[in-house]
Amino acid sequence: MNANANATPDLILHRGLFTTLDRSNPHAEAVAIKDGRFTHVGRADEIMALAGPATRVIDLGGRRVLPGLIDNHLHIIRGGLNFNLELRWDGVRSLADAMAMLKAQVAVTPAPQWVRVVGGFSEHQFAEKRLPTLEELNAVAPDTPVFILHLYDRALLNGAALRAVGYTRDTPEPPGGQILRDGAGNPTGLLLAKPNASILYATLAKGPKLPMEYQINSTRHFMRELNRLGVTGAIDAGGGFQNYPEDYQVIEQLAEAKQLTVRLAYNLFTQKPQQEKEDFLNWTRNSTYQQGDDYFRHNGAGEMLTFSAADFEDFRQPRPDMPANMEDDLDGVIRVLAQNRWPWRMHATYDETISRALDVFERVNQDIPLAGLNWFFDHAETISGRSIERIAALGGGVAVQHRMAYQGEYFVERYGHGAAEATPPVAKMLASGVKVSAGTDATRVASYNPWVSLAWLITGKTVGGMQLYPRANCLDRETALRMWTENTTWFSNEVGKKGRIEAGQLADLIVPDRDFFACAESEIADTSALLTIVGGKVVYGAGPFAGLDQPPPPAMPDWSPVRRYGGYAGWGLAPAKGAAARREQQKAQEQAQAKRRQQGACGCAHQCNLHGHQHATAWTSSLPVSDLKGFWGALGCACWAV
Ligand SMILES: [Zn+2]
Ligand SMILES: [Zn+2]
Repeated sequence: MNANANATPDLILHRGLFTTLDRSNPHAEAVAIKDGRFTHVGRADEIMALAGPATRVIDLGGRRVLPGLIDNHLHIIRGGLNFNLELRWDGVRSLADAMAMLKAQVAVTPAPQWVRVVGGFSEHQFAEKRLPTLEELNAVAPDTPVFILHLYDRALLNGAALRAVGYTRDTPEPPGGQILRDGAGNPTGLLLAKPNASILYATLAKGPKLPMEYQINSTRHFMRELNRLGVTGAIDAGGGFQNYPEDYQVIEQLAEAKQLTVRLAYNLFTQKPQQEKEDFLNWTRNSTYQQGDDYFRHNGAGEMLTFSAADFEDFRQPRPDMPANMEDDLDGVIRVLAQNRWPWRMHATYDETISRALDVFERVNQDIPLAGLNWFFDHAETISGRSIERIAALGGGVAVQHRMAYQGEYFVERYGHGAAEATPPVAKMLASGVKVSAGTDATRVASYNPWVSLAWLITGKTVGGMQLYPRANCLDRETALRMWTENTTWFSNEVGKKGRIEAGQLADLIVPDRDFFACAESEIADTSALLTIVGGKVVYGAGPFAGLDQPPPPAMPDWSPVRRYGGYAGWGLAPAKGAAARREQQKAQEQAQAKRRQQGACGCAHQCNLHGHQHATAWTSSLPVSDLKGFWGALGCACWAV
């Protein structure tokens, strides 16, 4: 056994039940990690013999260990900027609890700030199976603006929010959307996508924003919440209002300061209807595919390529027909991308959109071969067998997400149970040879919780408990786990670099709080991590590993819902048990921090390169004057086209 100094591991994890996903070495008891990568994966006695005096050893107590989860589609860069402002109803099981959270948050939210619940839940997850009424919202929040986004189908605004955004009887109807009105023509507070959701996002964009300093803190808290749920990597899908490079300053600063705790590959999303090609010509000149490093890298174009090819996934409305100019618009963009060898991802919900896009991809392929470009469709809920074959022939992929877990009931209402049985046909796509992986598409329709997606893949049920899929379209646990780990690496062109627990791969792994392979199916969605490691560094520790944890500074501003509720199902814990567990964890964290302070080390998480050792000032300093306008609620552009 090689025990020379160079091979001395930085970290050894032992007494674990490792599921490696490496078919040549599927189970292991221990791993050694050096310079952020696994160096040995195998028997405990062999690996413990490698330990040197400087090796840190963590005893996993016989727990199951999995590769870190990688989300194939997350709006994390945009979501991070606002995370601290959002009250998340993700995982809350009753409307009564949700409304109690809302009321408590209204009580601590200073004027002119809003309380906003921005998706990640479905009315079907509530025991009451309904949303609050506008009267209920006005009763709990007479003066504080409240904005609630439900999927991509509606937004509920209380009276104070309507006043803040300035909608009146004179406000015109938005194209493809509706402002509901009373008998006198005054807006009631209900906004509908029909099915264009722009009215919902444009209204949300009128709310106050965080200053940059707090956006940095907010992004760190979003990453921490993902780490708590076992996420170690994600492919960012851009998003509306998330323009490159202006809106990437926060994430770039965090990447430079080495404070990313989730590895990110990011796609560039055009914001300019009818000028998409200019955006991509410009970006292919000024940025380079794959620029960056293992923590933050450029992943090409999408998920918006052209607005004329983007279908809305609102199953409460009829399927939208894409306009006749879709093919020409898309052809122009795809040629620019193919010539520059940039892969792309394309948002497409319905097969009608996918098959028309494939006509374009096949045509371009005749002039500029697409082979070797890891291009793919996103979502693809109603993709046909014929389209699957065409994608396989062109060497593309399909990134699926669990949006149907949130809106399956509406799909069934409109199209029937039979039509919903394979939406999307995950098992069939896997069998066809098309590259397929899983993710969430969080934060606005589905929750960012990967375990909800895994449970959906395995059980075929919605979060409301409806059986959507027959067993034949459900996956076994190992296949589902591969969808969230090694399968996702093709989508960022990083195959073999991560996604398994294997010597040479990046050392990203998790120890969940229950055995993923042995727990009841009904418990999978409730999983969270006890220990999350990215690149050999602990980014989250709880329970027996709480002493290893290094949390970021508290969520700012101090009234942030994140401080009070944490994240997914924060309210769902039994109050006594939840409070006690949190106190215990906080105590362990405080002890660990005190110990680090005694040792003269920085008591703050990570190196904190952004603020050096001025943390206390940085967390509480008054807001930068230049950002006051944004923070205190200057209204955004009222143009519908944004
Ligand atoms: Zn999409
Ligand atoms: Zn998306």
